Amino acid sequence: TSWDDTAARMMAAIEQVIARKAPGGEPEHYDYLVVGAGFAGAVMAERLAADGGKRVLVIDRRPHIAGNAYDVEDAAGLLIHQYGPHIFHTNSGEVFDYLSRFTAWRPYEHRVLAEVRGQQVPIPINRTTLNALFDAELTSDEEAAAFLAARAEPVEQVRTSADVVISAVGQELYKLFFRGYTRKQWGLDPSELDKAVTARVPTRTNTDDRYFTDTYQAMPAAGYTAMFAAMLDHPNITVRTGVDFAEVRDSVSYDQLVYTGPIDEYFDHCHGKLPYRSLRFEHRTLDEEQHQPVAVVNYPDELVPYTRVTEYKHLTGQSGPVTSVTFEYPADAGDPYYPIPRPENQALFKRYEALALAEPNVVFVGRLATYRYYNMDQVVGQALATYRRLKARDEASLLA
Ligand code: FAD
Ligand code: UDP
Repeated sequence: TSWDDTAARMMAAIEQVIARKAPGGEPEHYDYLVVGAGFAGAVMAERLAADGGKRVLVIDRRPHIAGNAYDVEDAAGLLIHQYGPHIFHTNSGEVFDYLSRFTAWRPYEHRVLAEVRGQQVPIPINRTTLNALFDAELTSDEEAAAFLAARAEPVEQVRTSADVVISAVGQELYKLFFRGYTRKQWGLDPSELDKAVTARVPTRTNTDDRYFTDTYQAMPAAGYTAMFAAMLDHPNITVRTGVDFAEVRDSVSYDQLVYTGPIDEYFDHCHGKLPYRSLRFEHRTLDEEQHQPVAVVNYPDELVPYTRVTEYKHLTGQSGPVTSVTFEYPADAGDPYYPIPRPENQALFKRYEALALAEPNVVFVGRLATYRYYNMDQVVGQALATYRRLKARDEASLLA
């Protein structure tokens, strides 16, 4: 079937899920209220309803489901990601099998180029990158490793996002690929960020130019939103979008709460604001068939105001005379997208976490509520584990 048919079926399914009312009209009472319809909220709702037999109300203050993974067809008929490129990858067979109940997959391996010194070269840095930038003729892993070792500057204790890179590839490559990009993306120098941030991007001595090396790499065949619609399509689940927790916390009757929003907001910022980094997305449709050779091109140069450009056709396999792209401009203010990994923020999070642990009948799940720089698969894994814990607790209390 054509892409149009798939899209039409997807939209119908989504509308049906959102519009569904419980049989007999407005239900009086829910076992669970789930705040947020992103990965954390949707997985929790699905498990609670389908495995636990619970009545669940899911709310999201945005006008749609799927959280930051939301994708939608734009005016040109191309599927775009409203909140920036989301590439699915995982090493967890459990997570992949679980999501496979709700979607078919399109095989896709992500490749990224970085524009440095006027050239587009592979990132993660690999042997091809080195040969292109330095006019070198490195032909083996050993030669590339020796080339890097000659530049690497050992750091006594690898603590920050600068240490990780400088100790692996040295100052020159660090400045070319990481310093500017990181300063733009986070508004901080890499020396002010935990090592885990830039450690997400490895260095390679072979010519593997894939961004990820995970066992499972694929895109949901009809998109993320369609996958979420399938997850939430259960008679025990009611979904209301465009509804903020603050509006309903006193009017909806429920026993237990699953909260997936920012944890500091839940506690009225009583310990002060927990920093989250934001982005502004500029979505454009360009009058050309293809804009760039791969789905994502990174721009580490600090003089370029955006960090990366995504062209969606590479992700979806769609074709046509025009192409849709997204430019990402980092921002301080705006929707919270990234927890900012650094020691003082972790300390502040721990104070909120202590409140969270003492909050009766509430669980906190997801990237914003647990303040962890998690990929989608990690959030799914966290939610599945959280559900198992709740179930074990319920079973234990039934026995007691
Ligand atoms: P979210 O998706 O943020 O969902 C939380 C939801 O809660 C939101 O929809 C929000 O509106 C709602 N909410 C919050 N507060 C309230 C309230 N008070 N009342 C009602 N609703 C509320 N991961 C990957 O694996 N691969 C990628 O390529 C990738 N790329 C990314 C690119 C960008 C630009 C960003 C920002 C993230 C990316 N991620 C990627 C990470 C991925 O988005 C997250 O891991 C995942 O979406 C987190 O799911 P979540 O449910 O925890 O949070
Ligand atoms: N990074 C960089 N240059 C790049 C790619 C990544 O400096 O070309 C650093 C930057 O700090 C970025 C982090 O590595 O925030 C993690 O990159 P990733 O692509 O995983 O970011 P995400 O997709 O989560 O935004």
